[in-house]
Amino acid sequence: MAKVVLVLYDDPVDGYPSSYARDDLPKIDKYPDGQTLPTPKAIDFTPGHLLGSVSGELGLRKYLESQGHELIVTSSKDGPDSVLEQHLHDAEVVISQPFWPAYMTAERIAKAPKLKMALTAGIGSDHVDLQAAIDRGITVAEVTYCNSNSVAEHVVMQALSLVRNYIPSYNWVMKGGWNIADCVARSYDIEGMHVGTVAAGRIGLRVLKLLKPFDTHLHYNDRHRLPQAVEEELNLTWHATRESLYEACDLVTLNCPLHPETEHMINDTTLKHFKRGAYLVNTARGKLCDRDAIARALESGQLAGYAGDVWFPQPAPEDHPWRSMPHHGMTPHISGTSLSAQARYAAGTREILECHFEGRPIRDEYLIVQGGGLAGVGAHSYSKGNATGGSEEAAKFKKVN
Ligand code: NDP
Repeated sequence: MAKVVLVLYDDPVDGYPSSYARDDLPKIDKYPDGQTLPTPKAIDFTPGHLLGSVSGELGLRKYLESQGHELIVTSSKDGPDSVLEQHLHDAEVVISQPFWPAYMTAERIAKAPKLKMALTAGIGSDHVDLQAAIDRGITVAEVTYCNSNSVAEHVVMQALSLVRNYIPSYNWVMKGGWNIADCVARSYDIEGMHVGTVAAGRIGLRVLKLLKPFDTHLHYNDRHRLPQAVEEELNLTWHATRESLYEACDLVTLNCPLHPETEHMINDTTLKHFKRGAYLVNTARGKLCDRDAIARALESGQLAGYAGDVWFPQPAPEDHPWRSMPHHGMTPHISGTSLSAQARYAAGTREILECHFEGRPIRDEYLIVQGGGLAGVGAHSYSKGNATGGSEEAAKFKKVN
């Protein structure tokens, strides 16, 4: 019998939903590159229902308890008195979502002698100290592709809303105004702009494809170059360095994982390479950016707007400067946890658990760390090391109801 600790975000403040806005979800057969959707033996949830908050339990309780395992579900994840800390001593599996990450630092891994797997119900395992997992032989896995397209939609939404000045214009409506000049004094068309992505993996490439019909000029930088046919189809300009991409673009979007190579890659020095008045959209990870340098660039006008849904730490404390800096369009970390995405990553989490408990191999595309080294997707997209430093600040967050 294993203890599985599942860390999820809180239920809605007005209670777990008893009905939903729509009756079903569109059917998707496979991901754009042909990868199959998750294939668990069964699911015990209704796709389209809220699964990612505590009461939703990712639909895992029936399955795990029927196998004799113990399931602890909690949103209490930060600080020494958290429920997560209380269960580390005998947990075999810790599952969490990047939206509400259970930071598995080296200290916490040391307190979890029985831990065999840190499972990310989503994509992005930077909340786990990968070096500590490598050193301890712990498996780190995530549900690759489950919400990549969801995030790409969010990137396009936020890119358009910054360029067109949507949120301030909406706010004038809410205030009872009709202040057209106030709204349009910062409003442009994206048509004709140069748009670049740092990383053209699953999300970055999708963003490029979605933006192509807007008649933008598309740019990218990545450690590996895309096939020539893709570059030609999208008329892409490849940049060997990120700085060269920043210099060429009106709007930059970050779509690479957070790992030691990318931490704080946007800072006071690299921001000098951006065109004055560039827009930056970051739905990848907050820590790709130096928090205070972003606020300074918005105040000085070096950036015309910043949007995204990722912060560091998460949840962001009330006094996090990104809540109050000018010209931002931030949301909490939601892009990858639409009801549509939840159904996919809940099924993927179940698939990975089935493999773990039945001794079957976990799909290579889901692996980040295994057998004492980076593995699968992790070996391609991450670098060794740790990016969890400073995560203890998440304990400063106070719930708002
Ligand atoms: P992929 O693994 O498909 O793509 C990641 C890409 O990043 C790869 O092409 C990789 O390059 C590239 N990359 C890695 N390091 C660098 C670097 N130093 N410079 C330039 N490119 C680099 O992942 P996804 O596209 O699905 O997701 C990307 C990230 O987005 C995740 O790691 C996660 O942090 C974030 N994310 C956010 C979500 C949200 O809800 N906001 C949800 C899902 C993901 P290569 O492989 O060629 O080395």
